[in-house]
Amino acid sequence: MKAALLTRLREIEVRDVPEPQLYGPRDVLLRIDAVGVCGSDVHYYKTGRIGAAVVKYPFMMGHECAGTVEKAGSEVRGLRPGQRVAIDPLVACGHCDQCRSGRPNTCRNQRFLGQPGELSGSLAEYVVLPQECCYPVPESMTAGQAAMIEPLSIGLHAQRLAHLETGSAIAILGSGPIGLSVLLACRAASECMAYTTDLIDGRLKMAAELGAVWTGNAEQRDVVKAICEAEPAGVEIVFECAGEQETLNQAVELLKPGGTLVIVGIPEVDGVSFPIHTLRRKELTIKNVRRQNHCMAPAIELVSSGTIDVNPLITHHFALQETGSAFEMVSNYRDGIIKAMIHVADKA
Ligand SMILES: [Zn+2]
Ligand SMILES: [Zn+2]
Repeated sequence: MKAALLTRLREIEVRDVPEPQLYGPRDVLLRIDAVGVCGSDVHYYKTGRIGAAVVKYPFMMGHECAGTVEKAGSEVRGLRPGQRVAIDPLVACGHCDQCRSGRPNTCRNQRFLGQPGELSGSLAEYVVLPQECCYPVPESMTAGQAAMIEPLSIGLHAQRLAHLETGSAIAILGSGPIGLSVLLACRAASECMAYTTDLIDGRLKMAAELGAVWTGNAEQRDVVKAICEAEPAGVEIVFECAGEQETLNQAVELLKPGGTLVIVGIPEVDGVSFPIHTLRRKELTIKNVRRQNHCMAPAIELVSSGTIDVNPLITHHFALQETGSAFEMVSNYRDGIIKAMIHVADKA
C-alpha cells in the first residue's frame, strides 16, 4: 500500500509499504478515507519530537482520520465491511487503574496512532485498529467531516472540563483548529461571551464568523488590556490553545478570582512558569487537557445534527501524494490555511 513517511526533518516521501494485517479477533482493517494534519504532526515534521516522544525515521504520522471498514475480526460486533467510521486514535489497555476509573485518555499503557514509539500513523491506505477505536458515522457525513471529529472531540472535552455556565465570559487564546474547536463546542453548549486571540488575522475572522464576540491580534495590540476593558471583572474561563508562555501569562492576568485556566495547547518547550502569588491570590484552578474522554460519539452527534458545522475549518484539500506540500503549507501558515485535509481513498 501507499503511505506518506517522514524520512527526515521536513521531508515526506510517499512509498510502498506492507499492508497491515488483522492481529486479533477484535481488530478491524480500515481503508483510510481522509486524514487531517494536526499541529502535533507539524511538531514532529519540524522538530522531530514532542517532549520525550522522539521520531525514528522513516515515520508514519497522522491520527485525525476517518475510514471505511474493509475487514473485521471474528469477535467484532456492530461493524461490517463498508461501514464508514470516525477514528479515535487512542488505543487504551482497558485494564489499568485509569481505564477502570473511566479515564482511558490517561491510560498508563496507551498507544496512539502516529505517536513515535507507539503506533504508526494513518497517512496510508490502510490501518488496523481495535473495534473500540471505530465510531460509525452516518452516510450523510463527508470523510472530511468525519476526520474532524477527533479534533472537535478535544474541543468538546476541554469545554466539558471547564463547566461552562450560560452567559460566562471566556477567553480562547490561540485560534488554530483546536482553539476554533473549543469555540465551536462552547458556543454549542451555551450562550457564552467568547473573546478570542491569535497572531493571524484570517483565523480571527474565522473565529468571529463562528461566534466569538470579540477577536484581537496579539501581535498588533495589547489583548489583555482590551479584554479587561470589556470585562472589568475578568473572565471566568481561559482556554489556552497556543502552547506559549506568553499566552499562559495572559491567561493568569485575564482570569477573575476563582476562575479556571484550561490548558489545551502543547508547548514546544519542556517547562513553563506561572506567577505563583497571582495564582494563589486569585485562587485559580488549572486543568490540563489530555486528548479527549468519551467525546467522540457526542461530537459525531453535534456534527450530524447540524448543531456544529466543521466545514469552515477545512480550508485546504490534498491527495496522499501531496502530503509534503500540505505539511509545508501548514508549517508556514500559508494561504490562510486552518485545517489541511488529505484525501486518501476519498475522492472529494
Ligand atoms: Zn491531533
Ligand atoms: Zn489502561
